[in-house]
Amino acid sequence: MKKRKIRLCAGLLAAIMTLSGCSGSGGATTTPIDPVEITETHYLTNTLHKVTVKESNRAFIVDGVSEYKIIAGKDESTQTAASYLVSYLRKATGCSLEFAEPEAYSADGKYIVMNVPDLFASAGLTMPEDDLGVTGYYIKTVNDNVFLTSNYENGARFAMLAFLRQVVGFKMYALDAVSFEKDGKTLPDMDIVEAPDIPYFRRMHNQSDEKEESYMMGFVEGGFVSYQGRPWHNSLTYLPMETYQKEHPKWYSTIGNDLCYTAHGDEKELEAMTTIIANEMLKTAAEQPEALFSAITIMDHAQVCLCDACRESAAKYNGSDAAAVVKFTNKINEKVQAELQRQADEKGTKKRPLTVMFFAYYAMTQPPVIKNEDGTFSPIDETVVCDENVAVFYAPIMADYNCTFYDEVNQQYYDAIKGWSACSEEIFCWLYETNFEYYLFPYNCWDARFETYRLCVESGAPFIMSQGQHNANASTGFSDFKDYMNSCAIFDLNQNYEDVMNDYFTNYYLDAAEPMLQYFDELRAWMYHLERTYSAEISGYCKTEIGKDKFWPKNLLMHWLNLIDEAYEAAETYKDDKALYMNLINRIKKESMFPRYALIEFYSGTFSVDTLESMKYSFKADAQELLFDRHAESFTDGEISAVYERWGIK
Ligand SMILES: [Zn+2]
Repeated sequence: MKKRKIRLCAGLLAAIMTLSGCSGSGGATTTPIDPVEITETHYLTNTLHKVTVKESNRAFIVDGVSEYKIIAGKDESTQTAASYLVSYLRKATGCSLEFAEPEAYSADGKYIVMNVPDLFASAGLTMPEDDLGVTGYYIKTVNDNVFLTSNYENGARFAMLAFLRQVVGFKMYALDAVSFEKDGKTLPDMDIVEAPDIPYFRRMHNQSDEKEESYMMGFVEGGFVSYQGRPWHNSLTYLPMETYQKEHPKWYSTIGNDLCYTAHGDEKELEAMTTIIANEMLKTAAEQPEALFSAITIMDHAQVCLCDACRESAAKYNGSDAAAVVKFTNKINEKVQAELQRQADEKGTKKRPLTVMFFAYYAMTQPPVIKNEDGTFSPIDETVVCDENVAVFYAPIMADYNCTFYDEVNQQYYDAIKGWSACSEEIFCWLYETNFEYYLFPYNCWDARFETYRLCVESGAPFIMSQGQHNANASTGFSDFKDYMNSCAIFDLNQNYEDVMNDYFTNYYLDAAEPMLQYFDELRAWMYHLERTYSAEISGYCKTEIGKDKFWPKNLLMHWLNLIDEAYEAAETYKDDKALYMNLINRIKKESMFPRYALIEFYSGTFSVDTLESMKYSFKADAQELLFDRHAESFTDGEISAVYERWGIK
């Protein structure tokens, strides 16, 4: 795969620097950087997209009318998928398809059959042998009928979304920005065996995110067993010290803030601990039938148990304290899976899929492996390999997200992923996509993310969570584009990043795309320049200290607001379509919030008292209208009211 250059180039940066006054006085003195190269060389090869679609003249929905009806399986997931199918076909064509009972089906009729095994079999179909995982699906036209079928309920949604993409060209950029690139007049011949590249992508974008939007963009909600309200950092919730410590002192670490994962070397005690946890996990999982993952993870600290058994274990496994945790989790999992199998046999159903997980976080990050001469990793012995249904949850919070994990700056995180992948078939990845100290500033991680996701998936990640401004209601700094990129990554991670970017700007900003894309390009070029010029002060770390005036020259901020004004002007084209017009204005306004905030923060002394006051009040009015409610993640002082207080406005 050849290297490509994205549009960012020295010429663009030179132009920005002239604008910003950096080449003159008062700013950084520097020369333009080299062209920024984004290499997309790590395309996935083990994905499942056997898609054969042939256009046909088979009528589907013509002039708002259709002969087609939907027959949907009775399970909740299929029912939900079917109702969204109706809703989005109506949005695309104006026609509401009706439902029919399975009895109405005939082989020469016109039905969309979703997860009805008897009808599927009667059409002579069998499920393909490919590994569909729990979210894959099979779509097949037989005569004029079409079957959407999945092995697990979770596949129903993805089959429905694939159907919408193929038949009406469905794309969702946001709940209020949906495009249909086809008219749906015909139903093509389809033979599709496919699975999302990322089966589970948990969204942590804004808390105002709509359920429907998450569903239609392919994100998972929840998914984790929550034990007494704690999906993670729950080891002491499973085995509270006040309940058990007196009788079982060996269950607890010498520090007293977590379990001892070797039970001080006492096998009998280890057996007792893991039995209680397994039973509790099963009980809770039964109450939360939708959950797919159950994590038993360390509390939120960076210490390890200092008992002899734990120290011996770490010494034996190349310094890895996580070795004992792997063994511990394997023991729990063995009991959990045996019981789930027993329940399935008793009911004559499929065994419930439930992955049991532990954290590779802080002191437990290092995998129990050795690095081979060729750069690959091997587990130190078989006992530290995760059993089937056991997975590691890896959270590299210190990484530089402005670079891919293939970049040498992220070598240790790359090594940890590869190391864990030698010990675990599946790696759950918890990544980061915002600056948690500076919610109102941009965080430059757009260009690197597809490559990093590819590394995660190639190394065995069925699950990615990219933590953004999860506790805010709205974000600036092109955060919504990251959300859309995540949605694209779920379905097909081999998409070209630039195509995705162009498609997004074209369809999200419509006629205002050009100035918005120029702003976005300049913003990224500028941030690369800052990261290189001030490499001792800032980086791609998700809490990097970006909020200083020297990083944001006034001329540059003003220039970006000029581009925003150009975008507003371009939006005037849509004035007659009030809903669309207001949506578009608000999308642009969201991106005005960062430069306006920075101007008030850093250059208040350069404006007249009246002007400054009106800038502050108009920022606040727009922030309220757009639901901006935080300037940082902090639950104690991250609320945006702290900013208004500092500015001295009511
Ligand atoms: Zn210990």
